[in-house]
Amino acid sequence: MSIFNRAVAKCANCGHEKEVKLAASVNAVRRPDLRAAILDATFQAEACEECGGPIRLPAHLTYLDTGRGQWILLQDASGLPQWAAEEQEAREIFEENFGKNAPPASQEIGENLTPRLVFGWPALREKLIASDLSVRDLPLELLKVTILRDVPDPPLADQSELRLTGGDDAALQFSWINTETEATLSGLEVPREGDRDSDDQPEDWMDLSAKFEGALFVDMKRLILA
Ligand SMILES: [Zn+2]
Repeated sequence: MSIFNRAVAKCANCGHEKEVKLAASVNAVRRPDLRAAILDATFQAEACEECGGPIRLPAHLTYLDTGRGQWILLQDASGLPQWAAEEQEAREIFEENFGKNAPPASQEIGENLTPRLVFGWPALREKLIASDLSVRDLPLELLKVTILRDVPDPPLADQSELRLTGGDDAALQFSWINTETEATLSGLEVPREGDRDSDDQPEDWMDLSAKFEGALFVDMKRLILA
């Protein structure tokens, strides 16, 4: 089931208020069109009727894809500083719906799901792209740590985030994305060996991996905001 709530969104530009349909949950198996809309960033992107400016709908929904084994709680990027509390909440929601506190039939579905917590649309999109490219998210985040070491001055360091935005068998494409506007600032390409080869990893790879043990919030920001 894909559930929608009614909500009022306000244009940051002119103050016009608009009633919008806000998704409370997305089932990607039943609604592949919604998955596609998340991937091309048209999902819940509205235009103001008065001034034409973009209206940002707050990101808050559960995303379920039993085919790809993904369960993701999406929260607004503004909740990032409280990631630890949000992670605890995400764990409880998952356990209630598909984990130890769920009915047996749901637990059975849950066994094939990997629960995750993300903040903001670009982070959700990244998990979907990674799944399509068969890139596991923990090696992906550790690869980002490596990239950041090689790129000493990322664009708008305080307001931007590095996200996987595409790729193929040979290379992964990353983009620096402005967290607030979701605009792409710049891009870079990394050969695919980086996320597969375990012989040539930084010395502290294992130490870093340990910080993600049992984590639902698998994002390098976890290391920065610790
Ligand atoms: Zn407006």
